Amino acid sequence: DPQAAPEDKGVNVQVLLRCRPMSEREVAERTPQVITTNEALREVTLFHNGHGAMKQPTSRTFRFDKVFGCDSHQEKLYKQAIVPIVQEVMEGFNCTIFAYGQTGTGKTYTMEGGPRGSDDGRKLSPQAGVIPRSIKQIFELIESNNMDSTVKVSFLELYNEELTDLLAFDDTNRLRLLEDKSGVVVQNLEDAIVKSPAEIYQVLDRGTAKRRTAATLLNNRSSRSHSIFTITIHMKETTAAGEDVVKVGKLNLVDLAGSENISRSGAKDGRAREAGSINQSLLTLGRVITALVEHSGHVPYRDSKLTRLLRDSLGGRTKTCIIATVSPTVQCQEETISTLDYAHRAK
Ligand code: ADP
Ligand code: MG
Repeated sequence: DPQAAPEDKGVNVQVLLRCRPMSEREVAERTPQVITTNEALREVTLFHNGHGAMKQPTSRTFRFDKVFGCDSHQEKLYKQAIVPIVQEVMEGFNCTIFAYGQTGTGKTYTMEGGPRGSDDGRKLSPQAGVIPRSIKQIFELIESNNMDSTVKVSFLELYNEELTDLLAFDDTNRLRLLEDKSGVVVQNLEDAIVKSPAEIYQVLDRGTAKRRTAATLLNNRSSRSHSIFTITIHMKETTAAGEDVVKVGKLNLVDLAGSENISRSGAKDGRAREAGSINQSLLTLGRVITALVEHSGHVPYRDSKLTRLLRDSLGGRTKTCIIATVSPTVQCQEETISTLDYAHRAK
């Protein structure tokens, strides 16, 4: 029997599972596939050949809110899972989309994708991921409603519990998280005002280049860090009575550190602190989501930078979507089980 998805408990946390296809090399090497998906039943099954003391083959089946098999394309995932979230943002809510999974399973492919399409952002390529598709949807909604609006973006990297502003021209101003009742303000954060998809792309590329530079200086930094791209939309509407009403919506698009970093938490070598800190944000995120889903009184937002940063976009009247990504191959099966367990606990 599959581990059943709990019924909707009135919390807007959606957990999706996506399995990437076999790479050409894995196909050429006849790598055994241990994952099967059933999109209609929203189930994923992992076959375990058994080794060591446990030689019996076993299988485990998990059910999620949505399941995307290895042949599911970017557009399908976007239409089925993300379109309603962006609509919510445009109604003035804060929403967050996370990509969670082992390095190499498609987090960045899902969020950014391959080539985006035309530079003006009006035409997407089939490989374009969640970020360019949501940018397109946001601007189309703004233009079709003829709204008076301002769009701002920020782009952060969180590594070793330290924040880097990927859009800052000058890094001498250290970022600080300041909390008040309404949420968190990041002091000294660069907020770029953008007027078109093309302008967002320029800003994104600048931040991505900066992230890449930091990554080449330090091995594995990119798989150990979280990237947080945030689009904030201030919308002014005039009511029939002639009053101006301002709505603010925010969309956080988060490409999380590789989940294999969680299992390295016990490391006692020089990387222990680094690995431990990443675990802190990933582990705390899991606990925060579990607390929200279970309506337990205490939500441990304060236990990590990531959850402090996203506090105003997690829980309450916000929508959260976790896209858990897995590889279909036998080599990854242990990490795949961890990912399925983590993602399932978040339900
Ligand atoms: P991660 O960000 O989780 O480390 P990547 O997004 O870099 O993983 O994906 C690893 C490789 O697999 C890349 O070459 C990527 O293009 C490919 N890939 C991942 N998911 C898919 C998918 N759904 N369809 C096609 N290729 C994919
Ligand atoms: Mg990546």
